[in-house]
Amino acid sequence: MNESLVGQVDYQPPSGSGSQNLKEFRSAGRGFWSHIPDADWNDWRWQMKNRITKLDQLLKYLPTLTPEEYSGTLLANTKLAMGITPYFFNLIDPSDENCPIRRQVIPRIEETNTAAWEMSDPCGEDSHSPVEGLVHRYPDRVLFLVTDRCASYCRYCTRSRLVSNATGYDFHPEYDKQIAYIAAHPEIRDVLLSGGDPLLLSDEKLENLLSRLRAIPHVEFLRIGTRIPIFLPQRITPELTAMLRKFHPLFMSVHSNHPRELTTEVRDALGRLADAGIPLGNQSVLLKDVNDTPEVMKAHVQKLLMCRVKPYYIYQCDLISGSAHLRASVRQGLEIMEQLRGHTTGYGVPQYVIDAPGGGGKVPINPDYILKRDGERIIIRNFEGQVFEYPEAPDGSPEVSSPRFDVAVEGR
Ligand code: SF4
Repeated sequence: MNESLVGQVDYQPPSGSGSQNLKEFRSAGRGFWSHIPDADWNDWRWQMKNRITKLDQLLKYLPTLTPEEYSGTLLANTKLAMGITPYFFNLIDPSDENCPIRRQVIPRIEETNTAAWEMSDPCGEDSHSPVEGLVHRYPDRVLFLVTDRCASYCRYCTRSRLVSNATGYDFHPEYDKQIAYIAAHPEIRDVLLSGGDPLLLSDEKLENLLSRLRAIPHVEFLRIGTRIPIFLPQRITPELTAMLRKFHPLFMSVHSNHPRELTTEVRDALGRLADAGIPLGNQSVLLKDVNDTPEVMKAHVQKLLMCRVKPYYIYQCDLISGSAHLRASVRQGLEIMEQLRGHTTGYGVPQYVIDAPGGGGKVPINPDYILKRDGERIIIRNFEGQVFEYPEAPDGSPEVSSPRFDVAVEGR
């Protein structure tokens, strides 16, 4: 263990956060770590060093571990490592076996069940990878994988084959080769840094990487995909934001799934990023018993707006091996979209997508608002179910220039 438990035995963790008003901003608090000096607690490297990574630590901090969690944690290091920052651990409600925070980061034995249609690389990234660590799936943009490390590991991670290196994937990105590929392809105008989590790099390493990408004339736009502001808000230091603001236009996609993740610490960290001029979007994954109700998702998107973050995507959970216990249905996703569109601020309505299995890219999934369409009119309904007719401009045809397709599904 990284840290002694002496002096912490009297701590009684808070319970009942499940009944918390979902819109309320609360601090994660100090929990078992109240004896730690503020300077350490607020230091992101201390948080990383003191992550909960082993069963004995977890049992001491969370004696209410279920048999499924106990067995899952024993096996975690052969599939996707466990790693929970003390900060994020404090959001877990120990009295609630179905705590939505707990379900995201504590391994369960169900992760060892694999259905026939599940995959280790559900988005087909490896087959679109011209050099290690670079995914060139869409014409004008690339995904640049920076590291295989994250602050905490999400049990449904699409890249669990790679992150944490529990399966021996042995990921070794070579920045020189990745950058050389981008420089040699003038069609690439947008680079998304992801991983693993790019914000785990030191400020110096990240600045060096961003500088090299900015020096490529055809790279117009940089993005960072990160869950650090949620797992480790202490990492969003004034020094980091001062460095990042040199590389505009630089956007950031954060990843929060539940309103309880949006604490006062997270709100402050997101505020620092927004103050540095970084446009912030959020990507949520639709997860069973985490955020699969309209009530939870509506509170979440509204709270994101209060944190100056635009809800960007809701992802249908990818078909990653061992994730069936965390996958909500598409029906539930559509129901959530139905209850968001028109019922809350338009800026708060994300796009619901399925990343098409095997590497088809993101496909938008929407409730049907078009009831009928011909060359002369379109019949639509609004969020209240009222029906309207809109006259079509006279271009003579109901056809649009979408690609043609055959309705044939292979493989099932
Ligand atoms: S932070 Fe992102 S890359 Fe890391 S485990 Fe979670 S989903 Fe995967």
